[in-house]
Amino acid sequence: MTQKFDIEMLPVLDTNYAIFIRCRTTGKVAMIDAPDDDKILNFLDDRNWRPDIVLVTHRHWDHIDGLAKIKARYNSRIIVPDSEKDAITPHDATIAPGAILPFGVGHFTVLSTPGHTSGHIAYYLQEQPTLFAGDALFSVGCGRMFDGPANAMWDGLKELRHLPDETALYCGHEYTIDNINFALSLTPDHQALRQHLQWAKERRTQNQPTLPSTLGFEKANNPFLRADDPTIAKAVDKLGAPEAEIFAAIRKAKDQF
Ligand SMILES: [Zn+2]
Repeated sequence: MTQKFDIEMLPVLDTNYAIFIRCRTTGKVAMIDAPDDDKILNFLDDRNWRPDIVLVTHRHWDHIDGLAKIKARYNSRIIVPDSEKDAITPHDATIAPGAILPFGVGHFTVLSTPGHTSGHIAYYLQEQPTLFAGDALFSVGCGRMFDGPANAMWDGLKELRHLPDETALYCGHEYTIDNINFALSLTPDHQALRQHLQWAKERRTQNQPTLPSTLGFEKANNPFLRADDPTIAKAVDKLGAPEAEIFAAIRKAKDQF
């Protein structure tokens, strides 16, 4: 497949990633979220890129505090989840799950991924299967459940399993090593995770990101996408319980890990 879009990740703040998507045909640039870090402005100016749009996943400060600077410098169009609009300034437009947003030669589909915050959304680039998951889904993990409820969070994550296996996964934080350690505490004999831990440690030693992952890898190895798998249910002592209850137990175990 010829790439239609270039996607770049920039580590900012302590653990966040700023993500940039550039359409090779039109030169248009989109950003996912805007942490407040001058590294972002330097990155853009070095490449002579101006973000046409900023797509916000949720209202947390480490995803939106840079919006004012981006707006002032590039006059980007800032698009935010409709149900969190009151908590996000500045913004130019709101968007809700189900919407399809044209970008360059492609489109973003807006997906509902509540639970970390109640109005969290993710963006899926159809023409070059890529999921920008914000803090809803991490590699081998998921966001902390601040707002919940567990059944809505689980339903949102379960929907993501319908995306093609080759879908590249980009997310808001570098948490992979910690997430793998937790996953291995549930299923110590999971060989693919043991191998992935070695790989992730090498990447981090070289200061390289462990992302993007793929949805195929996550479906098979991320415990938060496997709450309906008896192996995982058993590990949290919830065999036979409703899926949302199992999911909540996994999330709670991670909080206490
Ligand atoms: Zn967050």
